[in-house]
Amino acid sequence: MLYEKKDRREAEYLEPIFGTKNEDEILPSYKLGQDSVEPRVAYQMIKDDLLDEGKARLNLATFCQTYMEPEAVKLMSETLDRNVIDKSEYPRTAEIENRCVNIIANLWHAPENFIGTSTIGSSEACMLAGMAMKFAWRKRAEKAAIALGEKKPNLIISAGYQVCWEKFCVYWDIELREIPLTADCLSLDVEKAVAAIDEYTIGIVGILGITYTGQYDNIKKLDELLTTYNKQTENKVFIHVDAASGGLYAPFVEPELKWDFQLDNVISINTSGHKYGLVYPGVGWVLWKDKTFLPEELIFKVSYLGGELPTMAINFSHSAAQLIGQYYNFVRFGYKGYQSIHKRTHDVALYLAEKLKEAKQFELINDGNQLPLVCYKLTTNKKRKWTLYDLSDRLLMKGWQVPTYPLPKDLDEEIIQRIVVRSDFGMNMAHDFIEDLKAAIQELEHSHLVFHEKTERKNYGFTH
Ligand SMILES: *Cc1c(COP(=O)(O)O)cnc(C)c1O
Repeated sequence: MLYEKKDRREAEYLEPIFGTKNEDEILPSYKLGQDSVEPRVAYQMIKDDLLDEGKARLNLATFCQTYMEPEAVKLMSETLDRNVIDKSEYPRTAEIENRCVNIIANLWHAPENFIGTSTIGSSEACMLAGMAMKFAWRKRAEKAAIALGEKKPNLIISAGYQVCWEKFCVYWDIELREIPLTADCLSLDVEKAVAAIDEYTIGIVGILGITYTGQYDNIKKLDELLTTYNKQTENKVFIHVDAASGGLYAPFVEPELKWDFQLDNVISINTSGHKYGLVYPGVGWVLWKDKTFLPEELIFKVSYLGGELPTMAINFSHSAAQLIGQYYNFVRFGYKGYQSIHKRTHDVALYLAEKLKEAKQFELINDGNQLPLVCYKLTTNKKRKWTLYDLSDRLLMKGWQVPTYPLPKDLDEEIIQRIVVRSDFGMNMAHDFIEDLKAAIQELEHSHLVFHEKTERKNYGFTH
């Protein structure tokens, strides 16, 4: 032993790695460790444990925000201790939530009598909107003397739905009536959707930005068809727009596009604050055009400074940090800020689409024209010896995470790759990505040559 017994404690702090012996200990996986660990050591050990994880900024698979300004992060870390649900303890936070709902209502052209709430994300928001549709349908059905128990109520949506709708249908016992995507129509076929309505239909979901391909459903057309449909029946069917990714994007990039509360039959809309609302994951929004579309039973009264405040969230306690982060962005960027950030993101997507076309290997399915994402498949070429999965692997060697996956049901023979452009993916990163992509293709095309080269070199006795 190098140290005397009395020195041992001091010696522990002189260990060469991070100055502690704790680093030699195994992190608890199944039960609590017996002893406490110094905060700085716990920090380092857990940080190390996370070291070989993908880098969020290079994750081209996600719509979720991966960058916020230091001031936003500071504000959010200073408000982590605030519980959104304690409206009487944190009335300013409640006020900030209200302001955000008002701001979003204004962006979506809501008339006077709207109501809305923050949520954890679009999934919770979709659950709420779906439940409201189910409850409202039940009331209509009771009035029209439709036999309630006979058949399951159904929800009409394109097969490009996000998994939250499947959850909604399972949790609340609804038939998910999917309208298949076709090669010619990679969004909701609105005619088929209206044709699928029966008296058990609780509503139709239009998607502003199908997760798979980034395409917008033609909500305006759907609205027109429903206006005609609703004229001839008491059993009216309305639209919920799942605008998880488009809800805080389209109002800035395509303000003239009609998809929101301007359309007669759109009664509720959700969005993810943590997608193009530019907040770190943990905030979403749902709004109803008119209080009458949100059945009373779903509104719970919380006491609030001697008064009462309506709440309709599914979750109860959670930190207010994300909500405050959303308000920070609204204050900080304003309309023009969001617009220029999103337009820049849009430009990057168009640039990527252009470069992908130039590579002559891909057929574009989405060229970043609506949501800023590009997705593509390989052109047919019998000589090609690699797949998109191989390309994903190659790109991962440089840290880029680019997902390869099949299209939904009926088109699932089609394998595609998708790149989502976010605000923190600038033109410089896009240049770097394209360079890496070209190199990856080059390597895949010539992988057998590389192998030969290596053997030859070995044979000729290269020594370096
Ligand atoms: C991302 C997404 C969701 C789920 O949103 P979260 O905020 O992650 O819960 C739902 N629908 C669509 C269309 C989406 O893109």
